[in-house]
Amino acid sequence: MVFYLNDNIQYVQGVGPKRAKLLQRLGISTIQDILFYFPRDYINKITDKKISELKINEIATIRAKVISFGKIRKKFQKDKFRAVISDGTGYLTCIWFNTTPWLEKQFEIGKEIIILGKLKYYYSRLCIIHPDFEFFGDKEKESFWTGQNYLPVYPLTEGLSNKIFRKVIINIFNRGFKISETLPQYILNSHNLLTINQALTKIHKPNTEDDISSSRRRFIFEELFYLELMLARKKVHWHRTTGNVMQLKKTLTTELKNKLPFKLTSAQKKVLNEIVNDMKSPFQMNRLLQGDVGSGKTIISLFAMLLAIENGFQAAIMAPTEILATQHCFALKEFIKGINVRIELLLGGNYAGKKKLKQAILDGEIDIVIGTHSLIQKDVTFKSLGIVIIDEQHRFGVIQRLSLSQKGQTPDKLIMSATPIPRSLALTVYGDLDVSIIDELPPNRKEIYTNWITGHKKPEVFDFINKQISKGRQVYVVCPLVEETGKSDLRDATNTYVELKNGVFSKHRLALLHGRMSNQEKDEIMQNFKDGKIDVLVSTTVVEVGIDVPNATIMMIEHAERFGLSQLHQLRGRVGRGMHKSYCVLMAYEPISEEALLRLNTMKETSDGFKISEVDLEIRGPGEFFGTEQSGIPKFRIANIVRDKIILEDARKIAFEVISDNFDLNLEKNSLLNEKYKEEYFKREKLFSF
Ligand code: ADP
Ligand code: MG
Repeated sequence: MVFYLNDNIQYVQGVGPKRAKLLQRLGISTIQDILFYFPRDYINKITDKKISELKINEIATIRAKVISFGKIRKKFQKDKFRAVISDGTGYLTCIWFNTTPWLEKQFEIGKEIIILGKLKYYYSRLCIIHPDFEFFGDKEKESFWTGQNYLPVYPLTEGLSNKIFRKVIINIFNRGFKISETLPQYILNSHNLLTINQALTKIHKPNTEDDISSSRRRFIFEELFYLELMLARKKVHWHRTTGNVMQLKKTLTTELKNKLPFKLTSAQKKVLNEIVNDMKSPFQMNRLLQGDVGSGKTIISLFAMLLAIENGFQAAIMAPTEILATQHCFALKEFIKGINVRIELLLGGNYAGKKKLKQAILDGEIDIVIGTHSLIQKDVTFKSLGIVIIDEQHRFGVIQRLSLSQKGQTPDKLIMSATPIPRSLALTVYGDLDVSIIDELPPNRKEIYTNWITGHKKPEVFDFINKQISKGRQVYVVCPLVEETGKSDLRDATNTYVELKNGVFSKHRLALLHGRMSNQEKDEIMQNFKDGKIDVLVSTTVVEVGIDVPNATIMMIEHAERFGLSQLHQLRGRVGRGMHKSYCVLMAYEPISEEALLRLNTMKETSDGFKISEVDLEIRGPGEFFGTEQSGIPKFRIANIVRDKIILEDARKIAFEVISDNFDLNLEKNSLLNEKYKEEYFKREKLFSF
């Protein structure tokens, strides 16, 4: 009798209670679980390495002939078994620490053998201890390589070998199982995808490269397709959700427009138009605003907020940190000087005046409230929240975003991404939102000369900095740590500050800034720097999200090899904001890893935030880049949105076509989709919102 997908794994031949427990650690308890536990890699059995090419600790398969074999007997020790094999390029010793009559019987001089194992250097020769082996042409036997040309390698846990895992899989295949298709025929056909049965067979028991790639493609497609199906439904749902209808009253918005010290770039005008149209429409806005550092997102968000306010609503901005919230408050207050709009900062914790402030928010006396997740606390209530702005540095989870928007009656929602998001992430994590992109920097921006150097060039850099200061420019020096912690030889901010003050910059005015100072101290120093009372600001990364100082022209980063790409890019964005040519000097120290080198060179080669974030995503992988756990996106089994970009685009296109054609998935041709969707995605859909 064949297996059913829900059957317990324990009853597969070769499993039993002990192995069932080990499998459970991998999340495998049923036939379905193990069938969808995919190999992470394959070993090509036929064309793998020659003995002479092997490296120590390498896992390889070798095809060779038996040269000699025999028992090794030593006093007080168990008998061992040894076989020497050769493929003509060298000799290899295979060792078994406890021999059995069965084992000894297998060997014959001259017999062709295939060995799988890890190469070690033992007893002064190349060895493989306890290799998996089989004799060539032994296809009848149940064997470690499953009779296929490629051996799957599974990501396993201790106590569970691939040999055993493969056997379990083979036993399941030998007995057979009942599985139904999960993609409709019309999609399989139009995309040239394998059926689920074909794909499962080929992914676990491939015979050719094509078996591997086509079976993987089927499952990657499926995984991304269902996700995109959910995003498509969500997006259509947003487009149908009724919201507030705002009218361009041209009071506050026009006041701001007339006061603006600069002209909006055409990219800014374009996105503002998109936002205003959303807000005027009878539907709720759910929009992502993307743009590089310094592209001018803040002013756009202010226009949107003023539009809500001139329609009698309040606005809220949620920022990921207090520094950023404070910074927003500061910047917005600058812009609205002379306009009758009340902006207040709502910070975390308890402080004098907070209770009053909350009452004023409830009474609708405050027009714009800026805060961190302090905003989503239960006791914060708005009179009529009309727009929610989320300044997201990849930090908010969906739940937090959701709770802020619940403080209003279907308020319009605008997410601003502090750094550009690579397209593949935008299509998944933000795949349900409309997207506006500011793809142009304000005209006064100049290319920032960027280079990375190692320690011995430092004197030249300091010479150059001195010259800049004497021309009246200002300098940032950023260090990775505040204070030296024990053994670490990182150049910490405090030490660097003392060193520079007593050394090369003794003639200039220096200040130290770090996150352990009180907000008041920090503000004061920032303000002094802005007012030109400080020449060199030595700091930790707190300036990353800090202040706008057009006269600062040099950003020098100590231990740049330690910083992530997006952080380096953010830091660089602190200069090049004025009329003078600006420079970014990345000081790197050995050892510089390959990845660090890639980061440094990327910084040198491009200033395009979108390109930089692509590289960043490639280096770090989607999980780390975004904390996808928090984002509401399910963990991928097999897909990798960086590697599988093309399949992603494809899956998204089809998913949106399907949903626009049949939102409820209730057409006959979509019945398979409906079934699986209801089972696995429907619940998640509720969670995935903001
Ligand atoms: P972002 O938030 O996108 O990083 P900001 O909104 O902080 O960028 O804008 C960076 C700086 O550019 C601010 O000083 C802002 O006042 C200024 N700015 C914004 N738009 C323009 C523009 N169209 N022309 C000139 N300067 C601008
Ligand atoms: Mg900003």
